[in-house]
Amino acid sequence: MSTIFNKIIKREIPAKIIYEDDDVIAFLDIAQNTKGHTLVIPKESTTSILTASEDVVTKVNLVAQKLAIDLVKIFDAKGVNILTNANEVAGQTVFHYHVHVIPRYTEDELKFKTSNTNFDLDEIYNEILSHIKQTH
Ligand code: 5GP
Repeated sequence: MSTIFNKIIKREIPAKIIYEDDDVIAFLDIAQNTKGHTLVIPKESTTSILTASEDVVTKVNLVAQKLAIDLVKIFDAKGVNILTNANEVAGQTVFHYHVHVIPRYTEDELKFKTSNTNFDLDEIYNEILSHIKQTH
């Protein structure tokens, strides 16, 4: 599926590109969650981390780490969140795999909500292990 990010890769629409190599490109998120909020994406079109190859995930995340270190230094941030959303239910709005690099300055500028923590940990653990043993 062609997305707005393909247009950025092809320079069909403008973006504040801060990094580029043969496989990966990174640019400022148009809606800055915090100062320096950056998106790191593969040039190869794949929907999310759930569909990306190991090679693509590796390359994207190594660039995300490098830029996280740079951004923390440049803006004197106190920390960073590196995250990816996969599928609509998880908040993905652009269906081209991307990693958010979000420098952090204060604790309350970004929060993850949880609505239900009433789970049976043993049941979850056993279900996961039964599948992992079969498939890995
Ligand atoms: P998602 O919600 O899919 O994880 O994140 C998509 C991100 O892409 C959002 O944070 C949104 O602000 C950003 N975004 C959407 N359209 C554009 C665009 O045209 N240019 C840039 N630089 N960022 C965009």
